[in-house]
Amino acid sequence: MTTTVRAWAAPAAGAPLEATTIVRRDLRPDDIRIQIAYAGICHSDIHTVRGEWGAKTYPITPGHEIAGTVVEVGSAVSKFKVGDRAGVGCMVDSCGECEACVDGEEQYCTGHLTWTYASEYPDGEITQGGYSQEIVVTERFALRIPESIPFENAAPLLCAGVTTYSPLEHWGIGPGSKVAVVGLGGLGHMGVQIAHAMGAEVTVLSQTTSKAADSTKFGAVAHVATADRAVFRELRESFDFILNTVSAGINLGDYLGLLRRNGAMVNVGMPTDSLPVKLPTLIGRRRSLSGSNIGGIAQTQRMLDFCAEHGIAAQVEVISADRINEAYDRVVNSDVRYRFVIDTATL
Ligand code: NAP
Ligand code: ZN
Repeated sequence: MTTTVRAWAAPAAGAPLEATTIVRRDLRPDDIRIQIAYAGICHSDIHTVRGEWGAKTYPITPGHEIAGTVVEVGSAVSKFKVGDRAGVGCMVDSCGECEACVDGEEQYCTGHLTWTYASEYPDGEITQGGYSQEIVVTERFALRIPESIPFENAAPLLCAGVTTYSPLEHWGIGPGSKVAVVGLGGLGHMGVQIAHAMGAEVTVLSQTTSKAADSTKFGAVAHVATADRAVFRELRESFDFILNTVSAGINLGDYLGLLRRNGAMVNVGMPTDSLPVKLPTLIGRRRSLSGSNIGGIAQTQRMLDFCAEHGIAAQVEVISADRINEAYDRVVNSDVRYRFVIDTATL
């Protein structure tokens, strides 16, 4: 017998989200059932439900920043017991056999990767995400949430946290690294805190100065407003690493010029526009331009433990479900400090 739970969903591309119910499967031997306490609103939810990332099957219940309590475990579950704190991020299943999966980088699975919502399991089940009371997921894709991080501040770590932690770890950021984070939103504010905790010197490149005090609070040494074009001249060849979290297209050439010799610009923000690059900008200083997709499951656990150890987490604004549509508009207008999190008791 399946379970019907309350949820919020987008009925069609671009339509406002509304209250509904969804069905969760019965537990398989390796599944756990999590009673969701809070679900973060990621800009990816908005890109997806508004149809900006291509056609999807509606209705869609978004949400891949999920934190809550285990309320039931399958017969073969070994990692969790009832009452444990648990989280789910962007993925709920992968093939487990391809080179990426074997390397623990399930996010690059070339077999069958199942995203937390608007995606399909190999058996045809369409996934529905965290704006709901409960989720059923294999324990392999569930994370342990450290006791010291409240659920509402932990939920955004499951996407925004790991998406910024992963490239910083992969590119070996640490003491001596000069890092710029572009865009101080959900991802950006985690990127600044994590890079700072790793020992880097961090500068925030934001559209305006309105978030400058927060940049300092998150550990940045400087907050620079890119609306003033002079900064692209003044900061030329200043950084070893630029993490671009912007949800819209930006002029990559402007930012690549800020990299020192051998510097790397890594894009995690995912607008769909094609962004032109002049190759001599890369060639002249052996700069590289790259991208990075969330993080693997083991890495996500490392990130959660790292955040707990360093006393960092997401700064959130908790909202009731009836404010989801308003929150979407505010996120698109860069008016979020710094993650909206839905209290699932209000669904
Ligand atoms: P967000 O909270 O909306 O933050 C994006 C920030 O970008 C804004 O706060 C703003 O910062 C800046 N920005 C927005 N529009 C801009 C523009 N036109 N020009 C310059 N800067 C602009 O979004 P998010 O949830 O952090 O997500 C950011 C992007 O990452 C989205 O595209 C999302 O889909 C993507 N994402 C990718 C992955 C991945 O695995 N690669 C994972 C999660 C999300 P300022 O106010 O400081 O300028
Ligand atoms: Zn996300």
